[in-house]
Amino acid sequence: MAIATLLPATTAFIQRAPRMLIGAEWVEAADGQTMPLRNPATGEQLCVVPRATVDDVDRAVLAARQAFDDSPWSRTRPRERQNLLWKLADLMQRDAELLAQLECLNNGKSAAVAQVMDVQLAIDFLRYMAGWATKIEGSSVEVSVPLMPDQQFHSFIRREAVGVVGAIVAWNFPLLLACWKLGPALATGCTVVLKPADETPLTALKLTELVQEAGYPDGVFNVVTGTGITAGAALTHNPRVDKLTFTGSTAVGKEIGKIAMDSMTRVTLELGGKSPTIVMADADLGSAAAGAASAIFFNQGQVCCAGSRLYVQRKHFDKVVADIAGIANAMKLGSGLDASVDMGPLISARQQERVWRYIEMGRESGATIACGGEQFGPGYFVKPTVIVDVDQQHSLVQEEIFGPVLVAIPFDDEADALRMANDSPYGLGASIWSNDLAAVHRMIPRIKSGSVWVNCHSALDPALPFGGYKMSGVGREMGYAAIEHYTELKSVLIKL
Ligand code: NAD
Repeated sequence: MAIATLLPATTAFIQRAPRMLIGAEWVEAADGQTMPLRNPATGEQLCVVPRATVDDVDRAVLAARQAFDDSPWSRTRPRERQNLLWKLADLMQRDAELLAQLECLNNGKSAAVAQVMDVQLAIDFLRYMAGWATKIEGSSVEVSVPLMPDQQFHSFIRREAVGVVGAIVAWNFPLLLACWKLGPALATGCTVVLKPADETPLTALKLTELVQEAGYPDGVFNVVTGTGITAGAALTHNPRVDKLTFTGSTAVGKEIGKIAMDSMTRVTLELGGKSPTIVMADADLGSAAAGAASAIFFNQGQVCCAGSRLYVQRKHFDKVVADIAGIANAMKLGSGLDASVDMGPLISARQQERVWRYIEMGRESGATIACGGEQFGPGYFVKPTVIVDVDQQHSLVQEEIFGPVLVAIPFDDEADALRMANDSPYGLGASIWSNDLAAVHRMIPRIKSGSVWVNCHSALDPALPFGGYKMSGVGREMGYAAIEHYTELKSVLIKL
């Protein structure tokens, strides 16, 4: 057993009870209220953080507003924005181990995996976005203006930063999700108020220190810790916010979308998923089973695009399910500080209870638990679980569980697979496991999801837009698509 030793900097960060950054000030909540954070592997309290009030959020938005409207930041050139973002990425690289340990203690995930995945992906993404800072272009257009036939014109289209961004994120990839918002916002010249998830603000707070160290002017990046119901709602309703960007559940995303429509605040929503993994008869069954297991069990199944529905062509169904169950049964569960552990705890007692309710629902309705189906503590552990003998319309198949629970259903042919894969309110990702090029290319355009992976699952790249069809959201993170969401177009017509 190789338990990671905590860096002195990790312990020190937690012990000094981190505060929030509003403008230039690291502050407590206005009313002094705090909220406890827990280590999901033990259930023990880690530390407390400020529980922001509505007033705190309003002050943070005002700081971001002033920084956007009237500060040196509003006049920064693309090259400076590029260099600052690159510097921030360098500082994150320097502190990668510390960030990974904070993520592990706060979220439960493996520190070793967090360092090479969460933290490294966040760094790579910021560097990718730094590149866009110098490549944001408008265009010039030759216009006709038929109502003024005798005049001459010069016309061009500017792409301008959208303004103050209110960013609200979920707890499953706290640092990475924050950087998905921060990267395009800072590349385009926006300012930001970030509200991390109630449960997992630690890496966002460390990131905020690094933003300051990189040399961003005061007010460009602000962070408020607190609850969704108070701090999140205050950010959503604040009229000084120009754009809301949200990653979280579909239920909350719908509410935010409605509020944003009322005030015409720009909005992008990255929401839930119930992504299918489709294994065709010709697939390499070994890699398909290993890939399907990792598609659902990575990050304890708390991944928006987790492959939580498995469809296998009937003649190989039993074998693929048995192979996945074998992989699941061999997985070692424990603290994310132990590098030999394959799966950590769920984020909270509440999430453990939610996942457990679904497993019980499956049992009660006569489904077969092929493996797992157990929970234990201390900490919030649920064994990797595979459930078979369920109908496509069952809640286990239709609803997002957001835990290490796979439902598996056989299919007869390509049309059958596509019908069931698309029979979902969600449309975030899908994977096809096959070497039949023609079949794969027939299927790709017919799958209703924002990403399709072939012979892999949940493989992300900063250059590839990521987001959902249907109830999985509106808009895209990453790629140039993200730059478009953080900018407005302005058409200019000059009569000469
Ligand atoms: P959640 O919706 O409960 O919370 C997400 C964030 O919203 C948190 O910061 C929370 O404090 C805040 N919030 C809650 N209520 C709010 C309100 N009324 N007004 C404003 N903000 C509010 O989601 P969660 O449980 O933290 O995260 C899990 C969900 O996130 C899953 O559905 C998952 O699929 C989704 N997710 C999606 C993506 C994606 O890119 N599509 C990525 C990660 C997670």
